[in-house]
Formats: sequence, C-alpha cells, structure tokens
Amino acid sequence: MAFESLTGKLQDIFKKLRGKGKLSEKDVKEAMKEVKIALLEADVNFKVVKEFINTVTEKSLGQEVMESLTPAQHVIKIVNDELTALMGSKESKINFSDKPPTVIMMVGLQGSGKTTTSGKLANYLRSKGKSPVLVACDIYRPAAIKQLQVVGSSINVPVFSMGDKTSPVDIAKASIDFARNNNYNVVIIDTAGRLHVDEELMDELKNIKDAVNPDEILLVVDAMTGQDVVNVAESFNEKLDIDGVILTKLDGDTRGGAALSVKAVTRKPIKFIASGEKFTDIEVFHPDRMASRILGMGDVLSLIEKAQAQIDEKKALELQKKILEQQFSFDDFLDQLQGLKNMGPIDQLFSMIPGVNMSKLKGVNISDKDIKRIEAIIQSMTKEERQNPSIINGSRKKRIAAGSGTSIQQVNSLLKQFEQTKKMMKQFTDMGKNMKIGKRKM
Ligand code: GDP
Repeated sequence: MAFESLTGKLQDIFKKLRGKGKLSEKDVKEAMKEVKIALLEADVNFKVVKEFINTVTEKSLGQEVMESLTPAQHVIKIVNDELTALMGSKESKINFSDKPPTVIMMVGLQGSGKTTTSGKLANYLRSKGKSPVLVACDIYRPAAIKQLQVVGSSINVPVFSMGDKTSPVDIAKASIDFARNNNYNVVIIDTAGRLHVDEELMDELKNIKDAVNPDEILLVVDAMTGQDVVNVAESFNEKLDIDGVILTKLDGDTRGGAALSVKAVTRKPIKFIASGEKFTDIEVFHPDRMASRILGMGDVLSLIEKAQAQIDEKKALELQKKILEQQFSFDDFLDQLQGLKNMGPIDQLFSMIPGVNMSKLKGVNISDKDIKRIEAIIQSMTKEERQNPSIINGSRKKRIAAGSGTSIQQVNSLLKQFEQTKKMMKQFTDMGKNMKIGKRKM
C-alpha cells in the first residue's frame, strides 16, 4: 500500500524527537533533514520537498509551542497541517452542470487505467443517484471499444459508441444529444491514450474539448509511475487546462510521491483515488485523511485539536500529571465532569482514539442530572475519602448515601464509574503522550 515506507520513516524520526522532551533549533533542523530524505525517497518532487521543508522548519521554530502539546507533538502537528495543505486542504468535488447532462472528459496516457476508471466513476456516480452513460471515443486501439462495452455491461451502465470510422469529435458531440434524448444526466467520455504525450493526441483532445465544452476534464494518472506523473500532469494541464486528477493503482505504489506532488506542481487537485481492479475501488480523495494516513496517526491529531480547543491548557497538564502519577481523585473527577461535557459526547470523543473498545464505554454518558447527583455524592465524602476512595467501606457508603440523598447503589455505581474513567483517562493520556498509534484503515 502507498506510503508504507514513508510512514515508517516519519514515525522513526518523530520517535527520536519525542525522546528529547525540549527541542533545540538543531534538533528540529536535524529532524527536517531526515524528513527531507524520507520524502525524496518516496519520490516526491524535489522542488515540492524543498518548499515543504522550509515552511515546516520556519513554522516549527517560529511559533510558540502550545502548552498542552509537547514540542514533538507541536512539530508533528505542523507536519500534518502542511502535508494536508500540500495535497489541497479539502476534498474537491465534481462540477455538476445546472443544465444536464454534465460532461466529464477522461484523458490520460495509455495504460494509466482510463477505461477502468471511467467505469469506476460511472459506478460511483450511479451510487450517488446519477444516471451516467459511457462514451467510446478511442477509435485507434483495436480492442478499446469492446473493452468499454465489457466494462459497461459489468456495471450495467450503457455505452454509447459509433464504431471506429467516425471521428472522436463527432462521437463526443453525438453522445451528448443521445444523453439528452434518453435522460442520462452524466456523460463520461473515454478518450484515446498514447504511450507518451504527443502533439497529435493533444490536438485531438483539444478538439473534443472545444466541441463539447466539458464540465470536468479529469486526468487519469498511474501512481506507480512516480515522478513521471508530475511531468504528464503538467503537459496535459498546459494544453487542456484540466480540472482535476484521478490517481490510480495506489494499491501497487509503495512510495506515494505522486500523491504528494501533483497538486503542488500543477495547482490542480486530486479528486479521486483508485486502489484496486474492482469497480468499487474508487474513493473521493481527502487530503486531511491522507496526511494522517501518511503520518500513521489515525485520528489522534483531531483528538489533540479538540482537546486543545476545550481544555484549559494548564489544568490539562496538571490533570495529565495526576493521571500519570495515579493521583487522580474524586475532586479532579468533579472538576473534569463539566469540562468533559463541553468536549461533546464522551463516547464520540473516545471513539477517535484508535484501539479504544467502544463497548467498554457504555454507561459513561453523563447528563446534567447525573452531574448534580454525582456532585452531591462527592460533596458528602470526607476529604480523605475523595483522595483515596479505596477506604470507602460499607458504613462509609451508607453515610455518603444518606448525606447526599442517594442510595447505596448509586454510590457504588459512581465508585465503579470513577475507576472506569480513571482507567480510560490514563489510556487517553498515554495515547496523546506516546502517539503510539494503531494504523487505521481509511
Ligand atoms: P487505459 O489504457 O488507460 O484505458 O487503461 P485500462 O483501464 O485498460 O487499465 C490498464 C490496466 O490497469 C488494466 O489491467 C487495469 O485492470 C489496471 N488498473 C486500472 N486501475 C487500477 C487500480 O487502481 N489498481 C490496479 N491494481 N490496477 C488497475
């Protein structure tokens, strides 16, 4: 799978940083040198690497480290943010026309996966409620029309073809009338490819573009060709002003450099990625998810962000220390209840931590009424009991229940919940502290 070795290398680099505690300028610069090598080895375009490293170094050294993050986490966060920005920040949607049919022109070199991907896209769009038709405009490769027909029949999408004697421009024009007359609202034109970029091919594609004025020109590129992807994308973009890229064969590409370079070099977004030969092996490209996948950090980064936004930083640090030192008491518990509530449903929060077993979290949801009752119970405890709940025996429970107007069962259930929360908070803190992340499939 893509990025495996890059992910491994980045994790090693960050592990070294985490071991250092406080980071000096030299530490950051050395780490960045290693990140640079890792990116170059992943076949990321050298200009892109240079700019990336400059930005990350500048930001890592130039910003105050937030108090709730360790310096290493701070650097990881900047790397993550910049990787996301490199790939386009947020996902790019297909431009659908107000006046159907929407015309999508698929272009790319021979063998890039254009025909297969046209089928995948048709299948995907149909699952989103569209009614697509595929158009066979490759009249040169002997089996091309037949191949598209096979694709069409296996996904049950009609294929418009006029054989190999009509010009591709005329076929494309006729297909739009066909779609309009038969209520197909998306036209996907599979154009011809060559082994290399050549003038004749580009001229033909330009003629089709001028004749049908597509809403989307999507360039299909094979991720396994690495650096070449960038050159191919630049040539197609220069001539056709493409709207986006579909990166195929990510399942076979172990380096991933293409995904990281295309947007930066062409300024055109990756819209979809394909990673398999089945017609369902296509997905919308999300730069942020891809960045955390490259870093191998599951959703922990978003957890850091959420926690940062909600918890008073100093308090969070104190709390973290207490949990680590196993000194988390009922006083802290009380203190945290309100804070945790502000962070949103607790189960949702914990679900973002890779490896947390959600079934263990039942009964941890806390309502305002629960909080009032819990407050009353805790306030009926002595100071000693709050600090060291293990001394709460039967007669103490009875006294606490009477004092808080609750029952012994309710006191018991709070004691149990407290232990459970303590355990989970420790897990939560360990996760944030170590960034030891289970790789999550996207
Ligand atoms: P075209 O010449 O650009 O139309 O390319 P094709 O659609 O004929 O694809 C060329 C080869 O790549 C075929 O064997 C496809 O099955 C294969 N292929 C296409 N997309 C993918 C993908 O995402 N992953 C893998 N593993 N193979 C793919």
